[in-house]
Formats: sequence, structure tokens, C-alpha cells
Amino acid sequence: MKKANERSVGDLVDPLNSVLAGRRSEAVGVLRADGEYRLVTLRSVDAGERLFRMEGEEMSRPSRYSVQLAEDLHLDLEGGQSMEEILDRYYWRFMNHSCEPNSCIRERDVYALRAVEPWENVTFDYNTTEYEMAEPFECRCASRGCLKQIRGFKHLTDPQRRRIEPLLIPYLRNYLHRPLCQAGWADPRDSNVPTV
Ligand SMILES: [Zn+2]
Repeated sequence: MKKANERSVGDLVDPLNSVLAGRRSEAVGVLRADGEYRLVTLRSVDAGERLFRMEGEEMSRPSRYSVQLAEDLHLDLEGGQSMEEILDRYYWRFMNHSCEPNSCIRERDVYALRAVEPWENVTFDYNTTEYEMAEPFECRCASRGCLKQIRGFKHLTDPQRRRIEPLLIPYLRNYLHRPLCQAGWADPRDSNVPTV
């Protein structure tokens, strides 16, 4: 059986099995197939291109779908929205995680890390934004460097942190370069965090 990310474009656009909705960005849309919603590209995208800007409610605590933008700042869906409103305004919520993502988040903007073909899943690495996941999950991205368990930056080893350093959202990059005594790490694995 094929994995989801091995589907052909023909599978994805089959009108009997999928519904395309949420086209606030002309670059991405939400696809429903096999009972799951996924954010996909609607056209070819260049490396470095801004795909869309995330809108939402700023919260002090994480939730299952929120994205962390700073120490105590999590972007979440506004409550009480219909699915149509979520598809139109909060489609970023359908971005999937990948350990080898094709996009990254800068402030509230999502940029392509490489050229992306039409109908590819738009993915980002939760470990580059979340310090500690509200709901850790098992990753099945099948990339060579897949970490399997996605729990947040706090739980990465130092080499794993170094590997994703260029993609880290700024507040997490600050953790990397903050002296240990100021970083407040409780995890002994963090003893090799540089004190630059
Ligand atoms: Zn993975």
C-alpha cells in the first residue's frame, strides 16, 4: 500500500475522493483525502518564496495545533470557528510535520526552503518552533533523519539541535547561545550547550 506522500497527482485531484478548499493564499490550499486534511501547494513554488502568513489568536499556553512564536507566545485558532472559517483563515493548522520539511516559519510567515512541486504537502519541523510539545506524537515522515518521536526542542540532543539550527525560530536560537546559567535547562543532556 502506498504511503500518503507517495500519492500521484492523479490520486490527489480525484474529485470523488477529495475536496479542495481554503484558497486564501494562491500558493497553498487544503486538501481532504482519506479522511484527513492536508495543506498542499497549488502550483510550483520557488525556493525562498513566501507561501502565506499565519493568522490566529495569541495565547500564552500551547495547544494541540498551536505554533510557538516566542517564549510565552503561541499562535492558535480562535475558538468557535466553523470548519469553513478554519479552512479559509487558519489553513496553516493543516501543515504537517516533517523531519525534512519543505518550509520554515519566520515570525508568522511561512517560506519555502526549496523548490516545491504542485500538490506537495507543505511541511515544517515542529522542533524548530516548539520548546515542548503540548501533545508529542510519533512521526512517520520516512526521511533519513526522522526522529520518530516529536516532543519539542527541549528533548533534542545537542547534535540534533545543531542540525536544525538554521531553521530555528529566533527564541529557540537564543536558547542555543545563551549561557547555561541563564537558560534554565533542567535536562542534564544540555550541559554541552555552548556559552557563547
Ligand atoms: Zn520524521
